[in-house]
This record gives sequence, structure tokens and C-alpha cells, in this order.
Amino acid sequence: MTAMILDGKATGEAIRKEIAADVKRLVESGGPTPCLVAVLVGDDPASQVYVRNKHRACQQAGIAGDVRRLPANTSQAELLAVVDSLNRDPVVHGILVQLPLPVSDNPALRIDTRAVLDAIDPAKDVDSFSPVNVGLLMQGRPRFLPCTPRGIIELLCRYELKTSGKHVVVVGRSDIVGKPIAMMLAGTDGVCGPDYANATVTIAHSRTRDLAAVVRTADFVVAAVGRPRLIHGEMLKPGVVVIDVGINRVGESLVGDVDFESASLVASAITPVPGGVGPLTIAMLLRNTVTAAQALSASPM
Ligand code: NAP
Repeated sequence: MTAMILDGKATGEAIRKEIAADVKRLVESGGPTPCLVAVLVGDDPASQVYVRNKHRACQQAGIAGDVRRLPANTSQAELLAVVDSLNRDPVVHGILVQLPLPVSDNPALRIDTRAVLDAIDPAKDVDSFSPVNVGLLMQGRPRFLPCTPRGIIELLCRYELKTSGKHVVVVGRSDIVGKPIAMMLAGTDGVCGPDYANATVTIAHSRTRDLAAVVRTADFVVAAVGRPRLIHGEMLKPGVVVIDVGINRVGESLVGDVDFESASLVASAITPVPGGVGPLTIAMLLRNTVTAAQALSASPM
């Protein structure tokens, strides 16, 4: 079997065009121009690239974007003051603090990432990291859906790969990817309807015994680990759908958590890295910003 490639780049572009049309409609109907502000602390090269890509995607969709660049020696109090000013600014609808925040050698300058994320107004928390938004998601009444998990479900939906009644193994239990995608796929009414939810979900992690045996039981595998090529073809059931979230730098190239070559001989469908999940994450960030602008303009601060 040779797997169908799930083209996240083309799907992401199509979704971004839809978002651009939504933005145009919103503005033409007298609504605000959605505005997303990214806060970038320090000069981590990968973070600079991520923020630049998000900013460019905003511009292409007609979303006003701004980047607040702060030096690496910014204190937690200074960063919280920036977040507070963005919370109060009625022109700003979405706030994203690019992670990871720098870790200073000076304990007095160490920033508590959780405290910063908790300080973002939940109505502007377009990454959906705040405890309020995570709680709403867990209760099945989300305000925003976290971007990477939502992007995965949109991709499955556009390729009509239904998860209802299927066994999904999610490898990784992070707050950003593993936990929310597991919760969303195990829920009853997904963002794309019940066919793209209602899965039986197993969460695997670093303490899972015999990962290969667990993964081999899956109809769908979502790999969000951060270990290059951890999952390979011999660990997979023939016909499985493989969603590779991992982005790992190996030498000059980017590779996923799945060994694409061996996995694509066994799977029925697979996401490449790059060009798989990544472009959808950005598209969903834009979608959440439009949702935030609509909600905030309906009930102004
Ligand atoms: P993370 O917070 O580091 O979590 C990694 C998870 O993998 C943890 O739950 C960890 O288990 C588990 N794990 C580590 N080694 C393992 C092993 N040998 N076997 C099984 N599980 C193992 O990572 P993350 O933020 O979820 O990101 C994961 C990857 O996705 C990274 O490569 C990241 O760059 C990428 N990513 C991509 C996008 C995108 O848009 N494409 C978005 C976000 C993240 P424990 O909990 O037991 O430690």
C-alpha cells in the first residue's frame, strides 16, 4: 500500500482564502477589522520564523497584525504589563505570546510562562491556552478551539477520514496538542460534526509500556512527541491514518515524529513534514482571531 498524502499546505491555503472572504464580509457589514498581536520575547530564531509566518498569513487574510518585540532580558512584570495593555486595547482582538519564553540565567529575570498565559484575557486568547478556555473545551462548549488540534480535525474532515467509532492512539499528552486533540476526538460533537469525533481514544506517553503494541492497535495515529522518526512502519496496522504533528530539526532538514518512508508503505493516508499539520495551525489561528473579533464586537469590552 502507498499512502495518500494529506496535503496540509493546499488545505491550509484553501482555508485561508475562506477566512479572507469572512474578514471581507465582516468589515463590509460594518464590523471591525480583526487584529492579532503577537508578543515575541528575545531572539530565538525558530520563534522569529513562526511569528513572521503568522504575521504574513494575517496580512494575506486581511487581518491587522502587529508584533511586539521585547528584549530577552524582559522581566515578568514588564511582560505582564504589555499583556495587560493589549487586554485593554479595544482594537486588539487576539493576543498570542510566542513560546518558548527565554530562560534567563538570572533567577530574578525568570518568567513563569503559566502566569503570562493566564494573564491573557480569555476573550482574546486565540491560542486557547487559558484555563478558562481549556475548561470550556473540556465541558464541550468551547469558545476557541486550540489551533493545532482544530487544524488536524479540519484536515481529516476535508479528506473525509471519519473517526467516529474508530480507535485513535494519540502519542504525547501536552497541553498544546496531545490532551486537547484526544479530548476533541473523544467528544460527541466535533468542530466538523459527529463523524469527526466520537472516537475511542488511547493516550500514549513516555511511560507507556510497549509503545509499538499500543500504536499497532490504532485506526488513526496522532504523533505529537518531538522525537524524530520515533514511529515507523513496523509499528503500524495496515491501512492506518497517520497524522504527524512533530517538527524536528535533523541537520539541515525538518522531520516529523513518524518515519515517513516506512510509514507511507503501510498507512492508507499520512501527513508529510513539512507541509502537513503546520500550515493548518496557522490557518486556525486566523480563524480564532476572526471569531474573537466577531464576539468582541457583538459585546464590546
Ligand atoms: P511536548 O510538550 O514536549 O510533549 C511531548 C509528549 O511526548 C509528552 O507527553 C511526552 O511524554 C511524550 N513523549 C516523549 N517521548 C516519548 C516516547 N519516547 N514515547 C512516547 N511518548 C513520548 O511536545 P508538544 O508541544 O506536544 O509538541 C510535540 C511535537 O509537535 C514537537 O515536535 C513540536 O515541535 C510539534 N508541534 C507542531 C505543531 C504544528 O503546528 N505542526 C504545533 C505544536 C507542536 P511525557 O508526558 O511522559 O513526558
